[in-house]
Amino acid sequence: MPKIYFLDVTNRDGVQTARLGLSKLEKTLINIYLNEMGVFQSEFGFPTTRHESIYLQANLELAEMGVLHPMRLEGWIRAIASDVESAFKLVPNIRHLNLSISTSDQMIKGKFQGRKTREDIINCMVEAVDAARALGAESIGVNAEDASRTDLDFLIKFGLAAKEHGADRFRYCDTLGYDNPFTIYETIKALAENVGMAIEQHCHGDLGMAVGNSIAGAKGAIDGGQDAYINTTLNGLGERAGNADLVATILAATKSKGFADEYQLAGSVDLSKAWKVAKFASYAFGVPIPINQPGVGSNAFAHESGIHADGVLKDPQNYELYGYEELGRGEPEFVYTGREICAGEYSGISGFSHVMGKIEVSFNNKEEANEVLELVRYANVESQKPLVEDELLFIAKYPQIAKKLLTLTPLG
Ligand SMILES: [Zn+2]
Repeated sequence: MPKIYFLDVTNRDGVQTARLGLSKLEKTLINIYLNEMGVFQSEFGFPTTRHESIYLQANLELAEMGVLHPMRLEGWIRAIASDVESAFKLVPNIRHLNLSISTSDQMIKGKFQGRKTREDIINCMVEAVDAARALGAESIGVNAEDASRTDLDFLIKFGLAAKEHGADRFRYCDTLGYDNPFTIYETIKALAENVGMAIEQHCHGDLGMAVGNSIAGAKGAIDGGQDAYINTTLNGLGERAGNADLVATILAATKSKGFADEYQLAGSVDLSKAWKVAKFASYAFGVPIPINQPGVGSNAFAHESGIHADGVLKDPQNYELYGYEELGRGEPEFVYTGREICAGEYSGISGFSHVMGKIEVSFNNKEEANEVLELVRYANVESQKPLVEDELLFIAKYPQIAKKLLTLTPLG
């Protein structure tokens, strides 16, 4: 029986979104949290973007060290052979790639302005797939951008050409959030049956259906005999109205009416990390979690009206589909309001030692403490907000990796 995999794209779609961004250390912590949650793959960045390359290499080093294991780290690039070459030049150890190209007539005409035909699109994509394989890619996904506005026949042709050249997965991008659960189910089922390759669903929320479409698409892939890979982001943040939210999609796949009886997740997903990862993403992006966010919103388990409160007190299942404990919620959150010493870009050694002592980090000597302090200062220059405990612990534990994450060399 084919299975459902989660493939998080926060570190690609999330960060390319207008007004949103993350420091390289924040991106790294997100990878660590996604790995802890049991997410199959993180689309961890852009291997052809120079300021990403050291971060990408450092994360691949963390994977080799076993810190980011067993999650796959995959890079997103355009499906152009020269981009594949640049990716391997900048990040030689990259092993998993998704290659993206527009497939709809709207975009072929509207973006390429008559310079490319449908045939050119397929040729460009297969050349990129061949180049990726030749340069050592272990897994290759091909992304059909704007697939939901592309003729099915052309999508099948595109998918078959990719498969023939050794691609492993077909990413169906509902780039504009145009699909609905009925249309995406039919299209993805047809793709699974006719292309015979695992299908990814990349859904956006412009019509408020990203999670529903992802689940319907996954059903289509599995009914068509193929594994389903659902693209998600943390807190649903992504281009425009956003993507399918990771936590909401896991909840939908495991708790919605009858779905889990027929369709199963690959591996084990640890929902108890949901609260921590959603809170961190909110802090790092500087975007509050909506009060009504599934599972992690502050009202997700709040009851006030007489009938609801009475009902939930008698039996929580009267008004709750799942328990807050499952999502790692329930610990009180205290906001300290007394004297506080923060670690920042202008910190000195005395204040810094105090902060680290509070989280039980001690140093062997003054030199070591000064080194870590210097890294913390640089991390703060990048993030421009106080570092969270896990960031400070990461820097203290992996100073050499942190140094790489903080290294930026423009025009070098
Ligand atoms: Zn997207």
